[in-house]
Amino acid sequence: MSTADNAERPEHGFSTRAIHAGQEPDPRTGSVVPAIYQTSTYKQDGVGGFREGYEYSRSANPTRTALQECIADLEGGGQGFAFASGLAAEDAILRGLLRPGDHMIIPTDAYGGTFRLVDKVVKAWGVDYSLAKVGHADAIRGEIRPGVTKLIWIETPTNPLLGIADIAAIAAVAHEAGVLLVVDNTFASSYLQQPLALGADVVMHSTTKYAGGHSDVVGGAVVVAKQVPVPGMEDAAERIAFHQNSLGAVSGPMDSWLVLRGLKTLSLRMERHCDNAESVVQFLQSRPDVTQIHYPGLDSHPGHDIAAAQMKRFGGMISFQLAGGEQHAVDSIGRTRLWTLGESLGGVESLIEHPARMTHASVRGTELEVPGDLIRLSVGIEDAADLIADLEQALG
Ligand SMILES: *Cc1c(COP(=O)(O)O)cnc(C)c1O
Repeated sequence: MSTADNAERPEHGFSTRAIHAGQEPDPRTGSVVPAIYQTSTYKQDGVGGFREGYEYSRSANPTRTALQECIADLEGGGQGFAFASGLAAEDAILRGLLRPGDHMIIPTDAYGGTFRLVDKVVKAWGVDYSLAKVGHADAIRGEIRPGVTKLIWIETPTNPLLGIADIAAIAAVAHEAGVLLVVDNTFASSYLQQPLALGADVVMHSTTKYAGGHSDVVGGAVVVAKQVPVPGMEDAAERIAFHQNSLGAVSGPMDSWLVLRGLKTLSLRMERHCDNAESVVQFLQSRPDVTQIHYPGLDSHPGHDIAAAQMKRFGGMISFQLAGGEQHAVDSIGRTRLWTLGESLGGVESLIEHPARMTHASVRGTELEVPGDLIRLSVGIEDAADLIADLEQALG
């Protein structure tokens, strides 16, 4: 029912598929846009006589099916799943694919909420973890415990330091050890980066961010590769489907519809996010009080060559450090007028935040702690000149 067979549309490009995959006009009414099936249950034609398999909306809902097919198609995967949040999607991956006694590896600068889920929930459930620097495939190899390590989790670019992981190299390390590779593709988006094509087994997104793109919905997605080459994990999609239905953290019909709507303009938005980010980086480079800029598009970025090879462009996220230290960072953030001070990212509006005190406050005192003089920007799609003028007055 929710199997996306993208072999059906090999001739179509990303933007075409973002608008049409999983979204044939309604056969009864011709409605061009998928309906919001705001229903919990479905009439059965006799006991067990489900129409197209729909029985109850936790198990399946047509609006969610459309989103699941679209996102699976965009990632070049076999099956997609939509959840109530990115973290619900992560929970389904971790507790769906791991069992108590297993071991996993996560990056030292993982998204704070991912680290908290692993450290406080999944660990208590019986899964041990190690931290490794995501930029070093050898460091990851060194943490693998043969037969016990079952999953490697990476993000690229990372949040908030924009570190780059070599997806193909890490997939090779994972597969030679019979370990599954999961990539959090939230920062790049499906448009800029295709982890499954580089060898990843599972991709996840916080669709709250670029996929939704308008800061009006919280959601998550998982896409499982068509063929998961890891022994014993052939049924990865089945396990995630089982977990999605058993735990029930599903994307509701309205939320699914909002993400579907967002995906239609993903390619356009990402191009503009990238254009604006490049302009903002140029401005930051001209400021003597900016000591470091973390943006994979810069030649000086340690992951630049890998990012250039595995990403279409370098994305809309930037972080930078200030000579004036933590107080200068906090004061500057408080002075912006156009940049909205807030958590989250990936929306059409530009956001600014202080990771050490906001998004990453929960990792203070751990190996994942981020510098106090760091500012993170989610560059929106406004006029670049306006964004730069506001940053200029805010930095003082
Ligand atoms: C926001 C985010 C998440 C968590 O997603 P939610 O939708 O907030 O639950 C996971 N990974 C990354 C990289 C994120 O930015």
